[in-house]
Amino acid sequence: MKEGPELHSSAEFENISVNPITRKGFLFMTGKYVAAGAMGSAVMSGTTNSVYAQKKDTVNTGRLPAKPDEQIVLEKWKSEYDQASAPVPMPMPPDKRVGYAVVGLGHLSLEEIIPALNMCKKSRLVALVSGSPEKMKKVASQYAIQAESCYSYETFDQIKNNKEVEVIYIVLPNGMHKEFTVRGARAGKHILCEKPMANTQEECREMIDACNNAKVKLMVAYRIQYQPHNRKLRELVQSKEFGNVKFLEASNCQSSANPDHWRHKKKLAGGGALPDIGLYCLNTTRFVLGEEPTEVFAYQYSTPGNPLFTEVEEMVSWQMKFPSGVVASCSTHYNVHESRHYRVLCEKGWLNIDKAYAYKGQSLSRAKADGKLELHENIGIAEVNQFMTEMDHFSDCIIQNKRPYTPGEEGLQDQILMEAIYQSAREGKPVKISAGKVPANFRGPEPELG
Ligand code: NAD
Repeated sequence: MKEGPELHSSAEFENISVNPITRKGFLFMTGKYVAAGAMGSAVMSGTTNSVYAQKKDTVNTGRLPAKPDEQIVLEKWKSEYDQASAPVPMPMPPDKRVGYAVVGLGHLSLEEIIPALNMCKKSRLVALVSGSPEKMKKVASQYAIQAESCYSYETFDQIKNNKEVEVIYIVLPNGMHKEFTVRGARAGKHILCEKPMANTQEECREMIDACNNAKVKLMVAYRIQYQPHNRKLRELVQSKEFGNVKFLEASNCQSSANPDHWRHKKKLAGGGALPDIGLYCLNTTRFVLGEEPTEVFAYQYSTPGNPLFTEVEEMVSWQMKFPSGVVASCSTHYNVHESRHYRVLCEKGWLNIDKAYAYKGQSLSRAKADGKLELHENIGIAEVNQFMTEMDHFSDCIIQNKRPYTPGEEGLQDQILMEAIYQSAREGKPVKISAGKVPANFRGPEPELG
């Protein structure tokens, strides 16, 4: 995490004052201070002492910035032996934030995305799209959205006339992502699309083309790539502190119960455990290693007679071979108790994240041999809301006209790999991934996550 600028404490002020007196004593003797403002800043009366003039912002409050786009820095009080507090947030004024329309008001939108928009610094909710007028009316009243900024799937295209909407965030069943991306791009809006990007690579390519033709940005919502524990693990892997990576184990599993849900219908979901949750193992492994697999080998199974798995698969287990020689062994299951973790095995130690793909609660640890001992270390990192970070990154890309870190090509690459995984499971043999299907260096610059 980035540290704020160095603070100037009141103790420092005492050190530079001419007489070795306490600050309290100095205030008493001079009577020159007037406490000012609800934020606790301090100002001087007319007869300004030059020493104080240099340091006037620093007493009590740290440093008040001269310009509105500079950070407020508060007075330091913790010792260096405790974790430094996060820098003071720098939210943009609400009317300057990028406006989002959220399409689909299901679990993810109502439980995570819309509440996270309220915490964003660069993004805000300005419109809703839903097939249920009653639900949308309720949500609109909860989040102060005007009736004229609420659209049905049929009236969705009118969103082009809504100047407040800059981004359309698609949170619909996977089989509907393409249609709403293409329609949204034609309306001239930037698109943030939930994972998996679509059901086929043809759909992914159509979405990329539609956004390119309309000159709007397209980002796939891979929140893990903006999550601090996963980013820290990637940094540790790249530092090679434990030598080269040799092997990676990743697993993302959960338990389903409703065979009528769209997740169990092939047309709407595209597949079962693999595109829904196994995708995290695939995408995060590529992100951590920073290379693309050249070959996959998979096994797939569904319990016969289980109505949950008549259209989509229950489990997939697969291996991926990378150019560096690393092999990743991944698994995903729709019918076991929740378990989400991965471990990166290096020459001199390993790195591990439990709850790696969860919305919160990530736990990063590492271990290495030290003579007869094995040293274990837990790495404590403050949690941040992953949806907030991801949306603010996309808003940043729009404000600064940058390419997103996880653009459409990132979703396409995963789709190519998932199709190869299914093919391998069907044929019972490894499938090679031909290079050049996705342009190299398709990512935007590393996100500035504040
Ligand atoms: P959900 O079932 O809770 O919500 C889906 C919404 O789509 C509902 O409001 C539903 O009414 C609407 N809908 C419109 N047409 C529909 C149709 N024909 N059939 C079914 N629903 C229809 O699903 P969700 O869990 O919110 O998932 C939505 C998307 O978000 C999916 O693409 C999913 O993969 C993705 N997702 C991502 C994460 C993440 O962490 N990034 C987590 C969960 C879901």
